[in-house]
Amino acid sequence: MKTIIGNWKMQGTASALVEVEAIAEDARPLTGSVQAWLCLPATLLTRAQQTIGQRPLGLGGQTCHTSRAGAHTGDLSADMLVDAGATLTLVGHSERRQDHHETNALVRAQAFAALEAGLTVVVCVGETAAERKAGQANDIIRYQLSHSLPTGHRGLHEGRVMIAYEPIWSIGTGHTPTNDEIIEIHATIRAFCGKYEPHPELMRLLYGGSVKPENAANILSLRHVDGVLVGGASLKAADFSQIMRSGYASALANAV
Ligand code: PEP
Repeated sequence: MKTIIGNWKMQGTASALVEVEAIAEDARPLTGSVQAWLCLPATLLTRAQQTIGQRPLGLGGQTCHTSRAGAHTGDLSADMLVDAGATLTLVGHSERRQDHHETNALVRAQAFAALEAGLTVVVCVGETAAERKAGQANDIIRYQLSHSLPTGHRGLHEGRVMIAYEPIWSIGTGHTPTNDEIIEIHATIRAFCGKYEPHPELMRLLYGGSVKPENAANILSLRHVDGVLVGGASLKAADFSQIMRSGYASALANAV
């Protein structure tokens, strides 16, 4: 099984629902080998759910508040995401960490709130270019995980926590780490998860950063990579569906 998640960020209005519909249709024949989600702007979730109908495409949010409700102007709770049709949310995306100064502690609290609401949660981590150059990538990832994973929550053992490794220097730049670099960090994450989870192989580890139709098959074939988190290439069905099909081929190849 491969997990393919799209992140539309602050992009998409009603006219983009045709892309959602095409992606949902393309996901149909991949059932059983690919689990796919689109993390849409919250304004589109309910309409997207109606568009998708019974087809095998999940919906996700891009962040959530730590509280269930209250005086937090402009924020969205995890319960609201569920109400709008989401079954998953991202937390700790580097754009949230940078633009909104979200800390590891806040990300952990968001992950707890999401799990309590019944969502699956994708905790995003990743190093800067300077940190990688200084040889600190593994340490940075371990530090982020130790402070932002919702350790102690039963959702961890229920398979409702995924980790996305997204090197910040790779997001939206067209530059990706080498295969060896991706494998190394994913192995670090898998080993780290073993501290909290008796079956770390059951935790889904995703790679994110400039995944395109052209490189998806290679990335999805790498050891410990259970799926991908896709930004720019998730906006158009032609690209995202091709990545989903690479996931399908990779899942089948792993099964033999
Ligand atoms: C992202 O923002 O999560 C991402 C991976 O973006 P892109 O695929 O555009 O690099």
